[in-house]
Amino acid sequence: AEKTVGFIGLGNMGTHMARNLLMKGHSLVVYDIQSASTVLLEKLGARVVPTPAEVASESTRVITMLPAGPHVRTCYAGSDGIMKGAQPNSIFIDSSTIDSDTSKEMANVAKMKGCTYLDSPVSGGVAAAKSGTLTFMVGGPEREFREIQPLLLKMGSKVVHCGPTGAGQAAKICNNMLLGICMIGTAETMNLGIKMGLDPHLLASIINSSSGRCWSSEMYNPVPGVVDKVPASRNYEGGFGTFLMCKDLGLAQTAASGSGSSIPMGGLAYQIYQMMCSKGFSGKDFSAVFQFLQEKETK
Ligand code: NAD
Repeated sequence: AEKTVGFIGLGNMGTHMARNLLMKGHSLVVYDIQSASTVLLEKLGARVVPTPAEVASESTRVITMLPAGPHVRTCYAGSDGIMKGAQPNSIFIDSSTIDSDTSKEMANVAKMKGCTYLDSPVSGGVAAAKSGTLTFMVGGPEREFREIQPLLLKMGSKVVHCGPTGAGQAAKICNNMLLGICMIGTAETMNLGIKMGLDPHLLASIINSSSGRCWSSEMYNPVPGVVDKVPASRNYEGGFGTFLMCKDLGLAQTAASGSGSSIPMGGLAYQIYQMMCSKGFSGKDFSAVFQFLQEKETK
């Protein structure tokens, strides 16, 4: 029965994740609120059904990959949502990045139907979704985690149990907050060095073998031309949208308020990406913060 898997939300990430499941021998039942999103998967052999409820009534393992909390709520608990069709003992895996409170609520709703909901956000982006090398950060009961681990390994190279429901989202949000902060730090550092007359390649190579080393500098440098094949080297197209970084830092902000933690750098990073969004950078990769800092100086 587990050969058939349900997949809901076939956007930038979901399409590739679902494709990997098909390629690795699963039958797929899929749904997306936009019918155009299911065309490719249908061509590859997936069966398209008209509601999330039907996905759940035809598969006991369902993966969801949706934009944000409200979409997850509608998809699970809405009038033709997953819960309406849920079979007992089903396992629902939500890989969207959302607030852990919504995750906990959905887990309770699933429990009332005799099912399990696991929060399971991913890191790695579209390229990793394509190549099947995502990292899954999973929150929820251990037994169900073990059961679905082999399934997630068909879409990722690392599947980590982070703790009870919500712990996957917590890990994801912490990572992305640090990423957002480090990218701004890298961008302003590179900008300063360039203004002081340093060659950006030389500066990056020194940082990357010194204590300032970080992923944003080494693998994803925000200065055009320093690293090949990253968004900075193609006018900040593709990659991880500034609006998504903004969403994740907003989640970090909410989590900080809820847990009484101070995140001064995370808060400032949130404001900076938000300014970018209101100045036309929203669809650009978040490393465009380098360009944003330069534009502010010239105006
Ligand atoms: P996307 O907007 O490209 O795809 C979302 C899909 O969900 C769309 O096809 C949309 O039509 C569909 N959808 C929306 N509401 C729906 C509903 N109620 N029922 C069914 N389908 C619905 O987003 P994405 O880039 O694939 O990202 C999905 C999630 O993964 C987000 O939470 C994002 O933060 C996270 N994420 C994204 C990346 C990335 O690099 N893109 C990386 C890691 C995590």
